[in-house]
Amino acid sequence: MPINGKTEITRRTFMQVGSGAALATGVLSSTAKLEAAIPSASSPGKIAVEEHFDFPATAGASYAAPGSPEFKRQIQDLGSGRIAEMDRGGVEVCILSLVGPGIQAITDVRQATEVARQANDHLAENIGKNPKRLKGFAAVALQDPQSAAQELVRCIKELGFCGALVNGFTQSGQADSISFYDMPQYRDFWATVQQLDVPFYLHPRAALPEHQPAYQGHAWLTGSVWGFTAETSVHALRLMGSGLFDDYPKLKLILGHLGEGLPCNIWRIDNRISRTLGSRPKANRPIAQYLRQNFYITTSGNFRTQTLTEVIDEVGTDRILYSVDFPFEDMGVAAEWFDHAPLSEANRLKIGRANAQQLFHL
Ligand code: MN
Repeated sequence: MPINGKTEITRRTFMQVGSGAALATGVLSSTAKLEAAIPSASSPGKIAVEEHFDFPATAGASYAAPGSPEFKRQIQDLGSGRIAEMDRGGVEVCILSLVGPGIQAITDVRQATEVARQANDHLAENIGKNPKRLKGFAAVALQDPQSAAQELVRCIKELGFCGALVNGFTQSGQADSISFYDMPQYRDFWATVQQLDVPFYLHPRAALPEHQPAYQGHAWLTGSVWGFTAETSVHALRLMGSGLFDDYPKLKLILGHLGEGLPCNIWRIDNRISRTLGSRPKANRPIAQYLRQNFYITTSGNFRTQTLTEVIDEVGTDRILYSVDFPFEDMGVAAEWFDHAPLSEANRLKIGRANAQQLFHL
């Protein structure tokens, strides 16, 4: 398929660089765009950033524990099986993270710190075998904010990780003693995150049953069906409303699942704050400004064009990142949706790859 008599792009070249990249670099002509738009295999070159692993120290209590033997094999596989799944979904790079609730559910502070370190070393060792395809988020034991900051520094500077991923609130000491990261003891930790200039992924975890009577008798609601969204959106709003981003304006947080419901409710949140007869947040600016300036939003586990379109309308395409949520979601299903969703090729490239390249300096 000669283009302008000079450049030749073959199906193989296209598969290697991806249609978006080829368009962006001007390699594809408009005739070739038609060719590129023909559904074939998944277009490769995507970067996926909410992809989970498990390992023996957390496997007994993780969200993967109820899974089949095959599911457990998949989530612990950081080798050829993982790479084959990535190839199947057209994903060139995965940023891997420890599955929830992970470190955050280990109430013994010393044990939490030790298991976080083991998880990070285990991940780094496996990334070392496939450094071009696999990257990592640090697990950190926020039971002890100071040592968590030290471990994050080690992960970024020595292990070459891309940021931190934390599974919601932390239990510490007693099982029902929980902390959210707007609390004052975390300010120095956030200073370290800002100084390192790396993103912090706020991943969901389920509310403790004793703290959520609304879920009693309805266990099906507690996890990813609804509870994850409710819990994580409230946690993110606590961070925004606390003034955290006034004190640390360069912090970059990431929310999965197309923003945990926040983009479609953000106008009402600020409208009600402005008209409320009750209390107001401490933050200096409207909540929507923090959502648009301090947050990135991923497509993990929410492969719905209508919802993506709404997120694009609220936050723009610069802050949206492709993700799957493997192995809880299927690499092929996610790719089938994203690769053929009615987006411009420029936006498909940004969301699928370029935004993540820029954010993580890949
Ligand atoms: Mn996930």
